[in-house]
Amino acid sequence: MAVTAAATKTQLFIGNQWLDASDGATYDDTNPATGAVIARVANASASDVDRAVAAARDALERGKWATMAASRRAKIIYKIAQLIAERAGDIALVEVRDNGKTLGTAKGELGAIVDCFEFYAGAATKNYGNSLPGPMPNYLAQTVREPVGVVGAIVPWNFPLLLASWKVAPALAAGCTVVLKPAGQTPLTALELAKIALEAGLPEGVLNVVTGEGRDLGQAIVEHPGIDKIAFTGSTATGKRVAATAAQTVKRVTLELGGKSPSLVFGDADLQQAVNGALYGVFYNAGQCCEARSRILVQESIADEFIEMFTAKARKLRVGNPEDPQTQIGAITTQEQLDKIKSYCQIGASEGAKLLLGGEPVSVGPGFEEGKFWSVSAYEAQPAHRISREEVFGPVASFTRFKDEAQAIELANDSEYGLSASIWSQNIGRASRAAKALRTGTVAINTPYAVFPGVPFGGYKQSGYGRELGIETMALYSETKSVITYIGEKPIDPFGV
Ligand code: NAD
Repeated sequence: MAVTAAATKTQLFIGNQWLDASDGATYDDTNPATGAVIARVANASASDVDRAVAAARDALERGKWATMAASRRAKIIYKIAQLIAERAGDIALVEVRDNGKTLGTAKGELGAIVDCFEFYAGAATKNYGNSLPGPMPNYLAQTVREPVGVVGAIVPWNFPLLLASWKVAPALAAGCTVVLKPAGQTPLTALELAKIALEAGLPEGVLNVVTGEGRDLGQAIVEHPGIDKIAFTGSTATGKRVAATAAQTVKRVTLELGGKSPSLVFGDADLQQAVNGALYGVFYNAGQCCEARSRILVQESIADEFIEMFTAKARKLRVGNPEDPQTQIGAITTQEQLDKIKSYCQIGASEGAKLLLGGEPVSVGPGFEEGKFWSVSAYEAQPAHRISREEVFGPVASFTRFKDEAQAIELANDSEYGLSASIWSQNIGRASRAAKALRTGTVAINTPYAVFPGVPFGGYKQSGYGRELGIETMALYSETKSVITYIGEKPIDPFGV
């Protein structure tokens, strides 16, 4: 693909036009595995946000998207899914080079992105209102769902196109128009989506993509009075700022934020299955995953055996060239993130967590000297250690032992986050009790896989609010309008004057 062959210049996508930033600014986008510059990206500013919002508002208020038959909207969204499926291999490679994730991971995401657009193509015709019991004799009452308006979609760098699709697909299905801002470090696949949307026949201004490297761009979107809703995925710290800023213009907000999710491994688990699942749960996407099950809580009766099996397998994971199909752990996406992982490993050591594996940067050979790689790492830590409590967002597992079910639940819930959890147990009663007691948006029993289109995804507590991926997500991209109709024969005359 041209974009990956040499540093390509990219543009903003506004009103179905490809445009430079209004001041002509660009920045360099690099491949985290090699350090090579792969694109010179348009560096948008607040005035470009104005242009994108104007296009999106115009499309909302004067365009035909919101008023188009839902079945026609559905066909265009479905066409987007088909085009993504056709180009999945090429787009996956762009994601690998932009983000540093492995090819296998990126290909898996592309499948999930197609599923997401297909799911919401179907949802477009099912955004039902209600017929309500008459509030008084001779009255009909109904609700209709209308698009919430212009959506500002802001996504992080760890799953660039996947998390964009979780927002763009339901927004389009509900009849909204969108200004999408990918993370500065990983802008390229959002631009691939724009190309596909254009080809699929999405009308002018319905999807706009603004790229830029600084925090100011996201801030300009959140502040903009022409935007009605912010759909944000990112860190809890930024999410709090987003919510506070959005409150100034009473925007609707959904927040998918950070996590410190646990795997609970009970003594009655199928050990091999639990080891394999826990390994994937924490090291998938090099641990740069909001729902990474980075706290492994393991029952004392099996802890030694489990930890030994886990670390033996973890040692076999290959860190290296993300484009090599044999690689399981790719590059760390940003220098800031690599520094953060390093600092958490140092904190772990200084607080007395026991190093079981890794804990250091790793060199993966010629051609990758400038790459950012961290070893597969594991610690045995106390619940109070920061490495057990704070989001590391890297390939770092922390083990803690528990005595019994009550203590497992207590430890699992002792977190400011509440995104996900996995339970490993062959006892259906125990697993179900634990699932009920956990304060997390998702609970996966005997599997690390917990994210599927059609299954709502989102957080309890400081992991955010709102749900993505579900049919209920449609309500979060809609306003409910109540329509009340008087059907009596006798004209109403309330004042009787
Ligand atoms: P981040 O919060 O720094 O950035 C996220 C996005 O917000 C980026 O596009 C960024 O440019 C933008 N942004 C930064 N400052 C902003 C501001 N003041 N106003 C508006 N937008 C702003 O997060 P990150 O480092 O890119 O991503 C990692 C974080 O994302 C982790 O904490 C992770 O847990 C979280 N995450 C959550 C989920 C989920 O579904 N819950 C999924 C993936 C990642």
